[in-house]
Amino acid sequence: MGTLNFEVLTLFPGILAGPLNESILKRGREKGLLFVRTWDIRDYTEDKHRKTDDSPYGGEAGMVLKPEPIFRAVDAVKAASPGDGFFTVLLSPQGTLFDQRYAERLSRERRRVILLCGHYEAIDERVKDALVDEEVSIGDYVLTGGELAALVVIDAAARLVPGVLGDEESAYRDSFGDGLLDHPHYTRPAAFQGMQVPEVLLSGNHDAIMKWRRRESLRATLLKRPDLLETADLSDEDRKVLQELKQDVKL
Ligand code: SAM
Repeated sequence: MGTLNFEVLTLFPGILAGPLNESILKRGREKGLLFVRTWDIRDYTEDKHRKTDDSPYGGEAGMVLKPEPIFRAVDAVKAASPGDGFFTVLLSPQGTLFDQRYAERLSRERRRVILLCGHYEAIDERVKDALVDEEVSIGDYVLTGGELAALVVIDAAARLVPGVLGDEESAYRDSFGDGLLDHPHYTRPAAFQGMQVPEVLLSGNHDAIMKWRRRESLRATLLKRPDLLETADLSDEDRKVLQELKQDVKL
């Protein structure tokens, strides 16, 4: 049984506490499949004001995270698990865009993953040069700090670790699992405020249901994210269905 290990370096450990102690992430940790430890960068300052940032050289607005506490914190993380391998990721709007493929790769990572959360205007560039293996962004927008991004990365990777979700396969049936968006889902009642569940789902005909689901996945992808069709693994039958759908929606 593999455990996915995260060591999160942050100035605000409290931001992570809630989400890590709820629902699936909480259960994953209780089952020993996910391990997340937070390290408060402020604990690695050595001055009396516990100063973690300073004004930028060259004179500009905003504060820059100082290198010394971060270097010391990383040393402490490594010293706490001697003999283990480490992979250090800086959450950054300048990084590689985080996506499902990245989450899958991370879910299989056996080294301890150090997630370094920035805050304020910037982090001293020497931290990136000396300590960081990869910079990762969760999207083309700027957050106030790396903590929410770290939670996104942890959540997306952890749910792909076998055993974290109740039904292991379900992660691969979700959107992006096979390169397409997910099909629509329905539950009881079969009729609600005049809206009916598609007949085929009530038919008990497994083959027809599977065909309907594939068709609806293709439809959702065609309508909402046609770019995904360029790289999705499509069968001849899928291509035929797509042709029909394109006629339907008159693209
Ligand atoms: N001046 C930086 C820039 O423009 O590249 C932005 C700093 S941002 C205000 C503060 C911190 O939030 C960053 O160091 C990073 O850790 C985190 N952050 C902001 N946006 C992010 C994103 N899209 N993905 C991941 N982390 C992000």
